[in-house]
Amino acid sequence: METVKSVNPKEGMYENVLRQFNQAADVINLDAGIRSILKNTNNEIVVNFPVKLDDGTIEVFTGYRVQHNNALGPYKGGLRYHPTVDIDAARALAIWMTWKSALVDLPYGGGKGGIQIDPKKFSHSELERITRRFTYALGDNIGPDMDIPAPDVNTNAQIMAWIADTYSSIKSPSVRQKNMHVVTGKPVGSGGLEGRDRATGFGVVTNIKKWAEKTGNKLKGMTFIVQGFGNVGYWASHFLIQEGAVLIAAQDASGSIVSEQGIDPELLLKHATTNGGNIAGYPLANVLNSTSFFSLDCDIIIPAALGNQITPDNCYDIKAKLIAEGANGPTNVDAEKVLLEKGVQIIPDILCNSGGVIGSYYEWLQNKRSENWKMVDVLDMIADKLDIAFDRMIEKSELYDVSWRVGAYAVALTRLEQTYKERGVFP
Ligand code: NAD
Repeated sequence: METVKSVNPKEGMYENVLRQFNQAADVINLDAGIRSILKNTNNEIVVNFPVKLDDGTIEVFTGYRVQHNNALGPYKGGLRYHPTVDIDAARALAIWMTWKSALVDLPYGGGKGGIQIDPKKFSHSELERITRRFTYALGDNIGPDMDIPAPDVNTNAQIMAWIADTYSSIKSPSVRQKNMHVVTGKPVGSGGLEGRDRATGFGVVTNIKKWAEKTGNKLKGMTFIVQGFGNVGYWASHFLIQEGAVLIAAQDASGSIVSEQGIDPELLLKHATTNGGNIAGYPLANVLNSTSFFSLDCDIIIPAALGNQITPDNCYDIKAKLIAEGANGPTNVDAEKVLLEKGVQIIPDILCNSGGVIGSYYEWLQNKRSENWKMVDVLDMIADKLDIAFDRMIEKSELYDVSWRVGAYAVALTRLEQTYKERGVFP
């Protein structure tokens, strides 16, 4: 099976987020001073740190943490381990986090970061040392009331547990336990939240259900395809199947597969788990040429991998009615224009994948209150917040006669503008 060679997933991501911002700022006539605050990032931290590898050699790694804005609360956002992580990618992703938190009304700002590595090239114990040393290098630039990282591409609950343990171990014993919520997305046994693992995929499907309700579509029998079969892609497929929709194709970094009869996400997950996380070689589907993935005949596309995947190079051939953006920044601004003209609807990333940060917020609250919450309650609370945010997005997009993405930005930017206007700018 061919390995997927997609467009450069970070190329243009920063430019994309600024173009989206400028478009929405013009529409709501955002105050000029607040506009210049929001188009800049507050802090950009780059750390170079050495780690001893299993063979005894020493390698120096580069890690990033960009803190875009904290007007509404501590910086919040994921850590990504991927060769495409650099300062521009971290900036773009941090800025999206600010809009996301403001849109779904969380007391958080936006941050993002990671390490420029291919984690598949390192052993489990090397990844542990890399993670712990990165945490140490970040020092008090992160913290439970300062900046709270979470999982993103190629990071998971285990990595969050190492960060929490390292960060709290370098605090004095009397306050150590108060620092475990420096990260969210931890394993449940280490202060994690029941349901945080599935929160993003659950949120994607909650938004798709809301779309179906608003547009008079029935999900039963609809076909969908998913790009990325990691945390977001798997859980979104798991929940969408429960609505009677059929997964007909999937793509990850290892290749693409298709089956008109439908692909069972649970069987595909079982296969991937014993195959280095890769879907390639799944025996109950056919191999598909990766370049024709997005042009498949289907009702819903869920991009749940990297940014900048739907571009002017492939958007003209898209046949789906809906793109539900599980990933951050999967659709480029020019491609979006074409898609909207073709009548394709897009649930924008800052709403569509915000179930993850909402889940993170409840994990953080659970830790602050020293409580343990039940999954059923957590998922209900996530669905409630998304329901409100979806309606606010529609309301603004109707008010200004703009796309759902610009409507979602209008909600977020109006919220931030109000805060700055009420507080003023120090001194
Ligand atoms: P993950 O590491 O669990 O999975 C990533 C998936 O993308 C893997 O299946 C990988 O093979 C695939 N992939 C990588 N490169 C690819 C390529 N070139 N073409 C096709 N597939 C490729 O990551 P995740 O946590 O599921 O995150 C996926 C996306 O969702 C990211 O954009 C992330 O920022 C966004 N997101 C994640 C969360 C969360 O809670 N994890 C929350 C909000 C948004």
